[in-house]
Amino acid sequence: MAHVDPAHLVELALRNATPTDADAEALRHVERCDRCRDELRVLLRVVTAARTAHLVDLSAAPPERVWRRISRDITHDTPPPGPPPVIPNHRRRALLTLLALLALAAATGLAAARWSRHRRSNGRSG
Ligand SMILES: [Zn+2]
Repeated sequence: MAHVDPAHLVELALRNATPTDADAEALRHVERCDRCRDELRVLLRVVTAARTAHLVDLSAAPPERVWRRISRDITHDTPPPGPPPVIPNHRRRALLTLLALLALAAATGLAAARWSRHRRSNGRSG
């Protein structure tokens, strides 16, 4: 079996959906494959860190320009006038989780692209 697709590893790490036969097959592969097991372990760490993140994990509130940049990157729109004045803790946590998952998605996309290039340059199909 080919290695588990990086996007599928992310889904396995997130564990948001009801497990499918494809998930079971992927997990059987992960048990036998050091590379996929290592990737899944890293993803699980990132997901766990994102889900347990608190705003107090930041040494200081992010500066206004950071909020503007994040907002602009997410919406591809003009920047808002400023950061939200008060965000309830549960919403801050959800925002941090979202940001971490966006970073994870970006990192996974880069890894997938790198992996794809690597496979092409080695002439292997998996
Ligand atoms: Zn593998």
